Amino acid sequence: MATCFDVAVAGGGPAGAFAARELARTGIRTVLIDPDTTRPRLEGLGERVAHILKQKGLEDALQAASAPMRRSVRWAGLNETANGERLVRRHDFDAALRKAALESGVIVRTTRLRRIEKANPETGVALRLADGETVTARLLIDARGRQAPSANRQKGPQTLAIAGRLSDLTLPSGTHVEATPQGWIWSAAEPEFGSWLQICIDADDLTGSGQDALAERMRTFLAQPQFDGRFDTRGFQDDLLARPAGLVLSAPELPLPILPIGDAAVAIDPLSGHGLFWAISSALAAVPSVLTLLEGGDPDLAARFYRHRVVGTFWRQARIGRDFYRLEADLAAHPFWAARAAWPDDKPAHAVADDTRLEQRVVVDGNRLREREVLITPRDPEGVAFVCGLPVRDLLDLSRTGSPPAEALRWLESRGLLSGLPDQPQKTPETNTRMRETA
Ligand SMILES: Cc1cc2nc3c(=O)[nH]c(=O)nc-3n(C[C@H](O)[C@H](O)[C@H](O)COP(=O)(O)OP(=O)(O)OC[C@H]3O[C@@H](n4cnc5c(N)ncnc54)[C@H](O)[C@@H]3O)c2cc1C
Repeated sequence: MATCFDVAVAGGGPAGAFAARELARTGIRTVLIDPDTTRPRLEGLGERVAHILKQKGLEDALQAASAPMRRSVRWAGLNETANGERLVRRHDFDAALRKAALESGVIVRTTRLRRIEKANPETGVALRLADGETVTARLLIDARGRQAPSANRQKGPQTLAIAGRLSDLTLPSGTHVEATPQGWIWSAAEPEFGSWLQICIDADDLTGSGQDALAERMRTFLAQPQFDGRFDTRGFQDDLLARPAGLVLSAPELPLPILPIGDAAVAIDPLSGHGLFWAISSALAAVPSVLTLLEGGDPDLAARFYRHRVVGTFWRQARIGRDFYRLEADLAAHPFWAARAAWPDDKPAHAVADDTRLEQRVVVDGNRLREREVLITPRDPEGVAFVCGLPVRDLLDLSRTGSPPAEALRWLESRGLLSGLPDQPQKTPETNTRMRETA
């Protein structure tokens, strides 16, 4: 029997579960399809993600994460310890987010999406599930992570992460990251989970396949002299987990009626620690796109909004990653480091603006997408659409003809804009810079 929804979400990791819950909370009939197979593992969760979860009333999901823990770093001559990220038990975290989605009215189907049988921007999607049922929906959010299929992939040097939970060694609580000639290592220990060891090597730097090959590669990595026996382990509790970990842009254009989010749109190098933030923030940004589309808004707005965020995130993360790898000048001659320090180019990671101007962009306004003028200044190279809740164009007009609120006046003053824009506003096409963060 076919069931029709407004939105089907394929994949109940952080991006999909969070998006499904947010959509259901706006009254959209949503189904979430996920096989519930997250392997136990530890990851770092930054304060920006913790803040969004608290804001959205997701304290229960945050229970799957520790308080911020000590982080030590051995990278590019640095040898320091600081307050660091929280450690999140991903299987508990994902399950808590799916439970929150269910409690907000999402229909949760514990199975896989086997095949997209029909995808038409006018009439929606028909999905064949692994349990034999067919689900139809007006839109499909693809949140299948790195497993999402893509016809148009763009990627840099590919990294393979091999990781496991130690069975015979208890590491100090907190996290440790360290550069080595063969790649880098991340270790983490959290009282409820135990000790986790993750190595990141070049994807081509593995001989053979299967558990024996992974165990042998882990052994040779940990045998590097610089460790001096610090990771002298005899084994792991479960099978080692091997995961692709390089930066990938899977869907640069919005393939309506499908909206990719999280890793299914851009999968980020774990060195950045930005993956969970991107998963959650791209899920949040999907909500105004979905509302706009379901209400018959212009699909071109959604396509431009999507492209700007996704393509901008890919290139920014590519260059941020490159700069991290370049810091390790002493290892620059080793193939792992040479390839990553050279890709993608020599451009700056962040947008730079040397003038002040208005640009036409698609922004989020009242949880819908609208075209608005965005102000670019040297202090705001990524653009500002609203100041103190006022559209920036209205504020500039008001500064000439009326009296803007004191806080907005202070903002204008800090940008030298009390008497309006210096020159004629100039409209230029959208660039790769990120628009105002909607998260
Ligand atoms: C080795 C490694 C270490 C990392 N460490 C960190 C870190 O410390 N901090 C950080 O912020 N980020 C880290 N990341 C990135 C982070 O894991 C991802 O960015 C994040 O999980 C993306 O969330 P997602 O929901 O988009 O995808 P995923 O978490 O991959 O979720 C995808 C979901 O889709 C489901 N699925 C797959 N196929 C189907 C199907 N056919 N039908 C239905 N469901 C399906 C899967 O079961 C899964 O539940 C790391 C990544 C790697 C590879």
